[in-house]
Amino acid sequence: MVTAATTDADVSIGAEYEVVIGLEVHSQLLTASKMFCRCPANYAYAAPNSHCCPICMGFPGVLPVINHQAVEYTIMTALALNCEIPEFSKFDRKNYFYPDLPKGYQISQYDIPLSRNGFLTFTYDGKEKRVGITRVHLEEDTGRLVHLSEGGDPRSLVDLNRAGVPLMEIVSEPDMRSPEEARLYMEKLRSILVYLGVSSGKMEEAALRCDANVSVRRRGETALGVKTEIKNMNSFRAVERALTYEAQRQIEELRAGRRIVQATRGWVEERGVTVLQRIKEDADDYRYFPEPDLPPLVVSRAWVAEIRARMPELPDAKRARFVAQYGLSPYDADQLTADRALADYFEATLKIGQPYADDATMQARAKAVANWELGDLRALLNTDALDITASRISPESLAELVTLIERGTISGKQAKDVLEKAYASGEKPGAIVAREGISQLSDASELEGIVAEVIAAYPKAVEDFRTGKGSALQFLMGQVMKRTKGRAKPDVVTPLLEKHLH
Ligand SMILES: [Zn+2]
Repeated sequence: MVTAATTDADVSIGAEYEVVIGLEVHSQLLTASKMFCRCPANYAYAAPNSHCCPICMGFPGVLPVINHQAVEYTIMTALALNCEIPEFSKFDRKNYFYPDLPKGYQISQYDIPLSRNGFLTFTYDGKEKRVGITRVHLEEDTGRLVHLSEGGDPRSLVDLNRAGVPLMEIVSEPDMRSPEEARLYMEKLRSILVYLGVSSGKMEEAALRCDANVSVRRRGETALGVKTEIKNMNSFRAVERALTYEAQRQIEELRAGRRIVQATRGWVEERGVTVLQRIKEDADDYRYFPEPDLPPLVVSRAWVAEIRARMPELPDAKRARFVAQYGLSPYDADQLTADRALADYFEATLKIGQPYADDATMQARAKAVANWELGDLRALLNTDALDITASRISPESLAELVTLIERGTISGKQAKDVLEKAYASGEKPGAIVAREGISQLSDASELEGIVAEVIAAYPKAVEDFRTGKGSALQFLMGQVMKRTKGRAKPDVVTPLLEKHLH
């Protein structure tokens, strides 16, 4: 028996075996209405069964109508993933019984999906990793079962608000070779979907779901091993932990001389294990056939070109631009562009300082804004588990803070305190500085008196300095800071100290 996965990725898969992973990601699309009817697609705060109609409840005799926006979102995603878009596509019925599927079938796409043969790249171990995309297709979500057990009377309720919500499926090739690669793939894919505005990207709300096909084989073998499919992973961390556990489990089975059984297994987050759910069904079991109530989908080249022209800048392009235009380090640019909201906040903050005297001034400001945003501000947001869009520090406030530092009104250390206060209250940094009288001491005549006091008080340090000990100057500077409660402006103090020491 394999013990529960403990840490994220440091559990070695071993030198003898190699793990092979392919992911199937489902994303609800951010359309106003459902896939085949006019019911609202956003059901998050709706009372059970309040967003449904005869079409999404599967009454006999009703006719579905294809959601144009959902098709466009899927094509847009496929283009972002470098896929081919065939001119002809169709919908099919996938037949199965489940209480949350009143029709007895799901409308999906079988042999002619909206797109195929693409790829996605991400950085792994300092190198570019490319994962093939088999297909991106469109289907409808099912309803939900709500299981109640209070009062010792277990029962299950059906909520059909989710039934018929547009669901896009992105299937990868089995190109990943470690659980960490699978997590990085998911993170990059999520980033692209959020950039495109087609998905909320919220795994915790099941708006983005990931199933994984996992198999192992001895290193050097080319044939794929028998795979299992893992479900119920609802965070990036869960994806990595579940895959690590499952790969180890399979290796131990093989080492013990047993066979891997093709099956669907569920990830149990609390126990850190995968458990057998059902022996895998094949496509044949679903009796797919073309959906007779929907016309074939003809995707003209003009339509594809028009969608392509409307696509926003994607993470890779934005990262390259941030390095070229703002002079950011590749690391900072990577951090900022991984999340569209962070990138937008950065550019909004930088825009407030316009116009800049020259590129160097603008790039210095860009570096400062990136440091504050990715450092202190993000740390504050993390303690409250807040997203940058919920920050009480607006881009205007951050720009104001950076200006106060640039002008020498406050020091970097004072700015940290001001940022914390502004974060807590939402007050503007300039107002806090004015009210609390926070400022740097830059008056040379006032500082000269303090410098003279310090030099008189520490003859040993003065002696050290004169015999060439560089650290003595720092010590004396520290004493000046102590006496001014950190307000002394270093570039005024340094020449005064040097003057008095010589
Ligand atoms: Zn409906």
